[in-house]
Amino acid sequence: MRARGDVLPKTAESSQYLYIQTFGCQMNEYDSLRVERMLAREGYLPTSDLNSAGVIFLNTCSVREKAEQKVYSFLGRLRSIKVRNPGLKIIVAGCVAQQLGKKLLERFDYLDLVVGTRGVASIAQLLERSQVKEERIAHLPEEEDQAHWLHLFERTSSIDSPVVAPVTIMQGCNNFCTYCIVPHVRGRERSRPMAEIIREIRLVANGGAREILLLGQNVNSYGRGLPGKPSFVELLHRICVETEISRIRFTTSHPKDLTDDLIACFGELSPLCKFLHLPVQAGSDRILRLMNRGYTASRYLERIERLRTICPEVGLSSDVMVGFPGETEEDFRETLQLLDEVQFDNLFSFRYSDRPYARSADFPDKVAEGIKARRLIELQSLQAEITLRKNQREVGCVREVLVEGPSKSGDGQIMGRTQQNRIVNFQGTERLIGKKVQVRIMGAFSHSLKGELAEYRG
Ligand code: SF4
Repeated sequence: MRARGDVLPKTAESSQYLYIQTFGCQMNEYDSLRVERMLAREGYLPTSDLNSAGVIFLNTCSVREKAEQKVYSFLGRLRSIKVRNPGLKIIVAGCVAQQLGKKLLERFDYLDLVVGTRGVASIAQLLERSQVKEERIAHLPEEEDQAHWLHLFERTSSIDSPVVAPVTIMQGCNNFCTYCIVPHVRGRERSRPMAEIIREIRLVANGGAREILLLGQNVNSYGRGLPGKPSFVELLHRICVETEISRIRFTTSHPKDLTDDLIACFGELSPLCKFLHLPVQAGSDRILRLMNRGYTASRYLERIERLRTICPEVGLSSDVMVGFPGETEEDFRETLQLLDEVQFDNLFSFRYSDRPYARSADFPDKVAEGIKARRLIELQSLQAEITLRKNQREVGCVREVLVEGPSKSGDGQIMGRTQQNRIVNFQGTERLIGKKVQVRIMGAFSHSLKGELAEYRG
């Protein structure tokens, strides 16, 4: 969860300030960025001060129960602010909005707009309608509202891009993993035309972006619904040839769609970072089948082996869920065994929880919360050992780092990432932001590395 915004300029009216709160995934962050840009064209300035905002925009996530609860608790805090400032407009978009629609307006009677996952492009017009007519609106279109969305970048004269810029290439998912709400709230797969993606990447590169993060629920099935069915591999090749971008990452990939062609890209395309996030979810074939994941543990391991043969230095991260209905101790041990075998560089792990629409909510043999909690701790401590050990192996190596900005650690340090997505903090000036530098790794921690500048050719 994060808030976007800056300190308020003193001259503007409070009704011109926009507070954005984003919950959940990187795709939501990308949508929030677009809403910020869209509303900037209507005169709204970003703020990080809730009390000064004229518009509060919440981009929500309901993929996990915890994220959904955070949304409700945040909404609860807004009631008193609305009482003090009745002119304030509160907008809720994203998965929770899609899932609950009008019910959200009923439950929180001070909300002004509820906008479904396919309606975000219309926020400026909806906001105006709500202001002029004093209407409370639930907008949940069946089809994407694209009219004022797709050309936003073209019509923005200058884009001040961060060093790493997200670019959505597709939305939705056709896979229907039994635990997942995404196909129900985000809809079926829809890919953006390749030419439009290339245009957007050129624009963000002109605005200063050096790395792009291609986003989609399942990026490697990109293009299936487009004329001529272009593939994700073709898209990667075109980005390398037709844009000046110097690093490419992508997320999320589905193991069942990780083709040999895509694996070959890691050996062929130099801008493609040597890093892959490949969610495995479980190490037991029985659980993977119940999850409807479409692969077995041995197939997953075979894909990893092939990738490491083509690109031995590749960094890997994954998602794992513990306590899926019916998960026995033996199933869980198989997940630990897979972790031990793969040796991921990083892992995102979660406890299973029933989600609305998800088929697994009706599955029998639910695992007790205490058992889930114990399994999660065991899994996370195994992974913490692996991550630290792998980070420690970096000490003494010189790595290419793309500098992203000041380090959170302060002390005048700056931070960047290696190709393998490891955060490196080191002493340096802010003129290095956006540059690739060689950094000698001097120390390793659980979540980052410490380094010193080895070489920079300005
Ligand atoms: S691949 Fe599965 S987990 Fe991922 S978004 Fe699609 S249905 Fe959800």
